[in-house]
Amino acid sequence: MSTQVIAKDGDSLCGIAIAAGFLNCAALRAEGANSALLSRPLKAGDIVTVPDLRKKDLSKPTDGKHSFKKKNSPPVSVRFVHGSPDKKYLDDTTLTVLDVSNFPTDVGGSVGDAAGSFPTGFGFDQHGHDDVDTFKVEVHDPGAGGTVNAKLEAVKPVKQADGSIQFQPITGVPDADLRKIDTLQCKQVASGNIAFRSKYMRLVVDQQDHDAAAGQTLLTADAVDAGDETLEILDQRVRATYEFSRCPASPKCNVTAELDIGENEQRAKVSVHILQDPATGNALATVDQARKSVLKYVRQLYAQASMGVKIIGTIRNVLAPTNLIAIANANGQPAVGGGTIQIRVQVGKPGQATFDFDQTVQVVTNANDPPVTTANNLAAAINAAFAAATPSFAATATPSGNPPLVGQAIGSADVLVGDPLTQNISLSVLASGDIAHPAAIGRILNTNIPDFGNNDSHVGTIEERTLVKNYDTGSDHIDLFVIGTLGSTALGEAFIPNASSAATRQPITSMVNSALIFAQTVTTTDHFHTTIPHEMGHILMDNNHALVATEMMGAGSPVGANERVVNGPKRISDPVPPRTIGFTGGFQGNPVTMLRTDNTGVIDPW
Ligand SMILES: [Zn+2]
Repeated sequence: MSTQVIAKDGDSLCGIAIAAGFLNCAALRAEGANSALLSRPLKAGDIVTVPDLRKKDLSKPTDGKHSFKKKNSPPVSVRFVHGSPDKKYLDDTTLTVLDVSNFPTDVGGSVGDAAGSFPTGFGFDQHGHDDVDTFKVEVHDPGAGGTVNAKLEAVKPVKQADGSIQFQPITGVPDADLRKIDTLQCKQVASGNIAFRSKYMRLVVDQQDHDAAAGQTLLTADAVDAGDETLEILDQRVRATYEFSRCPASPKCNVTAELDIGENEQRAKVSVHILQDPATGNALATVDQARKSVLKYVRQLYAQASMGVKIIGTIRNVLAPTNLIAIANANGQPAVGGGTIQIRVQVGKPGQATFDFDQTVQVVTNANDPPVTTANNLAAAINAAFAAATPSFAATATPSGNPPLVGQAIGSADVLVGDPLTQNISLSVLASGDIAHPAAIGRILNTNIPDFGNNDSHVGTIEERTLVKNYDTGSDHIDLFVIGTLGSTALGEAFIPNASSAATRQPITSMVNSALIFAQTVTTTDHFHTTIPHEMGHILMDNNHALVATEMMGAGSPVGANERVVNGPKRISDPVPPRTIGFTGGFQGNPVTMLRTDNTGVIDPW
């Protein structure tokens, strides 16, 4: 009498056959009732017909010792484990998720604590164990001994015609071979034990990290450079497959385990603006370069923190603006009073030699007015002139106050005139009659932007304010400006919330959550490639620099332009409490937690 078995997900013909006392699936495959099941993996609900066990099916292979314990022998299976120093192998916890490594790949355990090398042998090792993201593939096979081979591979979601999602190997990309290990050795954990385990493994996102521990790393990178911008690191899974060695079919029956990469995923939101060189009109990078750089570099770095990136709006080129009037820039003083400020305001169409609006506007300062009052008065006068023109002229002057510099009591103020995206604006100071409220024009005249120092990092230089105040698109996401170079030769600069500081140390709404980055990190492949995620990291962590050289938030690059190297500044550590990473100013924290939780206003769920 044959019997019928209802399959569960993950079952295989060999697995069901062995559980019924057969050597392999041959007898089940020969059973006509199973003919529809032979060309695909079993799925839950499949009805498998198991024929009577006959003597000849029990014939043992000649190349090994096998004991058949009918019905009650443990099934062949595969799972992911981290392992433990003290539990019995089969009692170790089965992992439910895998995370991208936060460690320099050749370093084991705890960065900063005499970490030691990443262990290259089989078995427990404290240096492998101390990195909580390491994993091992564990095979259970009561019929095997010595070592067995599993397959490990990254798989991606592919939508099927019926709307369902199938996870498939990532093929057709130049680094496809790094995204799988065809024969991952798993060694019997102890003589007579049915468990076989691989060495410690890590998920990595670039070839340098892959090669730093070859055979113990699986590449789970994006595929932007290969032309697929849709493939998310955190939408991939890792699949382990173990084939029944005695299966006569081709492909052989197998068991698999598959885990998601990352947990509680979320995305940092960013808009990108590319400055056009005022001398040539050429954008300092292409939209393609900017988009690809943001997608690949942020995905690669932030995957360690289960984060990705969402580009908000359209990446755009922006003309170098020349339309800001600064009042009392950097001086922090009230007006003397009675001084005349006179500005010639010319506004026309882009590319047109003449101006449609050309008037001189003036205000007289009042004693003790703060700069923002003088700026308000000046903006009102300019708007009145626009309104009084015949016909009235469609342009707006917009005042805004700045926070005080460190050490000053009151801040300067600015007036933006017109819209540099649609208007050609020329401003000239004809009179600046109040010595305490000098007027100056903010203009971007070349691609090198003077950058802030310690006392105006929450205010910005006049050039930074001219750029950001014109083109900022909101503080609920990061505004990223691609510029030529920064005056200090820094690679980038960010206006962070300073949420835990006094209000006078916080950037105003249009400036906060904005960053400037030098164009070459976008136009040259892997040229200080951590610059964009680093500057976004300042904003997301609302913090300064980490004191560990391999941290993404370290100051500058200790390894030069090629930050891909294994000790490059590309890690976002996730130290196990009470351990922390030190930052400048004595701050101690967990960089992954900081990135994910310290500025949630610019983050979306996955
Ligand atoms: Zn920095």
